[in-house]
Amino acid sequence: MSNKVTKIGVLTSGGDAPGMNAAIRAVARTGIYYGLEVYGIMRGYSGMIDDDIFHMSTRSVANIIQRGGTILKTARSKEFREYEGRQKAYENLKKRGIDGLVVIGGDGSFRGAQKFSTEFDIPCIGLPGTIDKDIAGTDFTIGFDTAVNTAVEAIDKIRDTADAHDRLFVVEVMGRDAGYIALHSGLATGAECVLIPETRTNIEDLIQQLTEKEKRKKLVNLVVVAEGDELGGGNEVGRILKERLPNMDIRVSILGHIQRGGSPTCLDRILSSRMGYHAVESLMTGRHNVMVGIIDDKMHYVPLDTAVKEKQSFTSDWLKIIKILAS
Ligand code: ADP
Repeated sequence: MSNKVTKIGVLTSGGDAPGMNAAIRAVARTGIYYGLEVYGIMRGYSGMIDDDIFHMSTRSVANIIQRGGTILKTARSKEFREYEGRQKAYENLKKRGIDGLVVIGGDGSFRGAQKFSTEFDIPCIGLPGTIDKDIAGTDFTIGFDTAVNTAVEAIDKIRDTADAHDRLFVVEVMGRDAGYIALHSGLATGAECVLIPETRTNIEDLIQQLTEKEKRKKLVNLVVVAEGDELGGGNEVGRILKERLPNMDIRVSILGHIQRGGSPTCLDRILSSRMGYHAVESLMTGRHNVMVGIIDDKMHYVPLDTAVKEKQSFTSDWLKIIKILAS
């Protein structure tokens, strides 16, 4: 393999996601295997600006493949949005001779990486690290599968208590502006209905659907709401339903940050490991400013600007399937 880089840095930035550690491990060990020097950069772009950078060995990433969070910590950096901040960051890389960067993060982090590498000629490879799955050019993002499985486990438990009391539960899941966690966890838990930002929610249809179910004495109902739904999330949907269906026993549960934590699933560990390996290989073969994705189980390289501009294709038939299967 031709050596286009000699020293590479790795960082995690923006929202954390389970599997980031497995990706850091893969980047560090692949880099060292191929004779590169690998540097860990703490707290995303903040660490680059503050010079919080350390030399990594294969031991630096021991015993982390199974751990949630990120050993490199993550942060949001206002300074990096300004040219002066990015210049400071560049100078810190330059003095160590770091000539390639792997950025594990979401679309915001990729925007930063794109700007940085255009201005300072440091090739950047992005790995999609976000539980929201809101990045185009890959079937999965690091952390999504773990977050969905956490949501499914929690919703199954809520179903037990809903069943004991004949209650309707409105469960809010994460996802920012995307509905993938809601769609996947709703289908997997047999929810009556899933409300997502990608489609306009017809509240009258939902009320009619729930009223019909009440008449048929189907009293255990789960409505899964994505936090970014245009109706306003779980609390707002709960408020509307309580007002319109006063005879129903309705409760709201916001799952919140448990969806970000926990040990990554097998899928996330494998995804992170393969992506981490290919990020280093990409830098070594001269690729730059691309995100490493996996589509149909094959590696896929998408320009960073395309990955942030385009959305994943949305499978609207899932909503129909959810409705039919909950009847
Ligand atoms: P995520 O990567 O999870 O989407 P953010 O949107 O918060 O998270 O982005 C992470 C960091 O990336 C920001 O704190 C900022 O430092 C950097 N960043 C985001 N957008 C830009 C931009 N347009 N220009 C420069 N840096 C940016």
